[in-house]
Amino acid sequence: MTNTLPAHPDATWPELLPGWVWLCGAGPGDPGLLTLHALNALQQADVVIYDALVGDGILRWAPQAELIYAGKRGGKPSPKQRDISLRLVELARAGKRVLRLKGGDPFVFGRGGEEAQTLVQHGIPMRIIPGITAGIGGLAYAGIPVTHRDVNQSVTFVTGHDQSGEATGSLDWEGIARGSQMIVIYMGMKHLAHITERLMDAGRPASEPVGIVTSAATADQHVLETTLSQAVEDSARAGLQPPAIICVGRGVLMRQALDWQAIAQGQPVRDVDPLGRGRPAESA
Ligand code: SAH
Repeated sequence: MTNTLPAHPDATWPELLPGWVWLCGAGPGDPGLLTLHALNALQQADVVIYDALVGDGILRWAPQAELIYAGKRGGKPSPKQRDISLRLVELARAGKRVLRLKGGDPFVFGRGGEEAQTLVQHGIPMRIIPGITAGIGGLAYAGIPVTHRDVNQSVTFVTGHDQSGEATGSLDWEGIARGSQMIVIYMGMKHLAHITERLMDAGRPASEPVGIVTSAATADQHVLETTLSQAVEDSARAGLQPPAIICVGRGVLMRQALDWQAIAQGQPVRDVDPLGRGRPAESA
């Protein structure tokens, strides 16, 4: 397959060799959020093993490849994960150029580390290609900056599920509530009631802004702005469907000024600071 990436004086596009596995993030949905390394991999792969969250259209860049769906949705037991990892080993041993494509970033709540460990244990050469994670890029697509000067100097990424699919009992919600101004929750919809209650019990105000972005960075993107006390009711009323990223923190209000997709469609720009601190400073 010819490599169609542009020549660049400072970048080389590596060759995906037979017997190798490249473990690669596909970003949150929009194919434009793939990295050039990901595109390079798609163009060369003999086999692409992809997850449910890999955006529509991305696989069209690998017309030469055999496509294997390895989708599974949250909370399923782990043996299947083992099967996927071993499948990668088998394909590599059969001399294939293997692309393992995962939604977002492979090392963010994606079990990419486990797959990579299996490859290492079996002596399979591999390359890791990071991707844009939904908890950063998906929020940016909704106009929510994951950090914003003066609003939050910290952000914590948590998962709403543990391995068994239950609410994460091992998480120190009190500590997170105290220590992190912005909390970004993956796989949190099933346990939204539990999570919002724990955060309020730990002292976060009932009125604290919550943003829920479903199918971020896709044509189906939907954004709900709500509060800790209203989140369960509002999300049920809106009929939100996963995948969803939930974020808790005052930075969610920035969306009122930064919803760039609405602005591009002609919605008037509000010349106010949604956080009520006056106009943003011009200087850095
Ligand atoms: N590795 C992925 C996360 C996998 S866990 C990443 O870095 O983004 C799966 C969870 O990610 C989903 O339950 C959801 O919480 C989140 N997610 C992934 N893609 C998403 C999208 N396009 N929109 C909203 N949430 C998404």
